[in-house]
Amino acid sequence: MKIVGFASAASLFLLIASASSGSPQTAETMTPLLLAVQDAPIPFTGSDGRTHLVYELGMTNFSSAPIAVEKVEVMGDGATLETLDTAAVTERLQPAGQRESAGTLAAGTRANLFLHLVLAPGAKVPAELSHRVALRASAAPPGHQEFNESGGAIKVDRQPVALVSPPLRGVGYVSADSCCDATRHTRAALPVNGRMWVAQRYAVDWEQLNAGGRIYSGPREKLESYAIFGQPVLAVANAVVVHVIDGQPEQTPGNYPTNIPLADADGNSVILDLGNRRFALYAHMQPGSIKVHVGDHVHAGQVIGLVGDTGNSIVPHLHFQVTDGPTSLGSNGLPYEISEFEVTGKTPGTKAFDEAETNGTPLAVTPFNPPQAIKRAMPLDQLIVSFPAH
Ligand SMILES: [Zn+2]
Repeated sequence: MKIVGFASAASLFLLIASASSGSPQTAETMTPLLLAVQDAPIPFTGSDGRTHLVYELGMTNFSSAPIAVEKVEVMGDGATLETLDTAAVTERLQPAGQRESAGTLAAGTRANLFLHLVLAPGAKVPAELSHRVALRASAAPPGHQEFNESGGAIKVDRQPVALVSPPLRGVGYVSADSCCDATRHTRAALPVNGRMWVAQRYAVDWEQLNAGGRIYSGPREKLESYAIFGQPVLAVANAVVVHVIDGQPEQTPGNYPTNIPLADADGNSVILDLGNRRFALYAHMQPGSIKVHVGDHVHAGQVIGLVGDTGNSIVPHLHFQVTDGPTSLGSNGLPYEISEFEVTGKTPGTKAFDEAETNGTPLAVTPFNPPQAIKRAMPLDQLIVSFPAH
């Protein structure tokens, strides 16, 4: 059989489809936009009390011209759960290897649509998700360029969500770049060891506000200016230490280091094996502060190091994530729920947070009165969080 390009094959299909009506043979259809979900979402409870599902719908433009994605419907067990219009798609569709989103896939390219579903209160978690995409394929014959494609069916992963204790203690922490629509972690899809991974899908960069509501007071480039610098970092479960890096120098706050090797990006870091193929990574700790060694058994709440500014870090902070493997990049990011914390307020968002982090100005927090006592949930993005003091 002669191999044909999409345009001529589509014309051929139109002829076949009309000629074969009534025939028992199933018509074959060109599907220039291939849809697939690699890593099934694992539902978890957010600090808003709602059930969240986070995953990536992979899209491959298997044609010789651009495909514009005009609408995406997400179905749960056949019923529409969410509809993304062109603007929403444009904001969430990112070509592989790029950090900017776009609503159009260039010819022969792959992209991820980063999806975040929030179920209605009391709604049943669907067993299976599927997708219907309205698109315009420029390679198709005139008059036949707009059509729908369905695909990306995936069973929701109902594995139990890891329950952990707090990674820090004290008040005024900010859950920066946490789940589920902040882009720096949730969209950190990386090609590692031959596969796409989103290890940081549920990562948080914990920072802290001082009594004046500032991330730092005093010279910006001084480590001790930062409220979180030197805070004890706690084991989140009874666990086994499987990876330790120490001896990396502190960076100068305010600037990212240049040309840092991939292996040094986490700075001084620890990975704990929590059991059941869950691993917790703590990154950017102070040099010499890590008191645990590979093979050690630690208990929940045990101090394993101090918050620093090592590795690929712009200010002192604790990067924390849970994945399914003992590596920081080549493993699948897993949701987790923290046993106990309080939400005392929320920031205006990432932009305001970034400004406060850069300028040392007070963050315009909206306080929650009274604070919300949360049990067993994931702290969502840009909240002010208190952890138990003990
Ligand atoms: Zn981070």
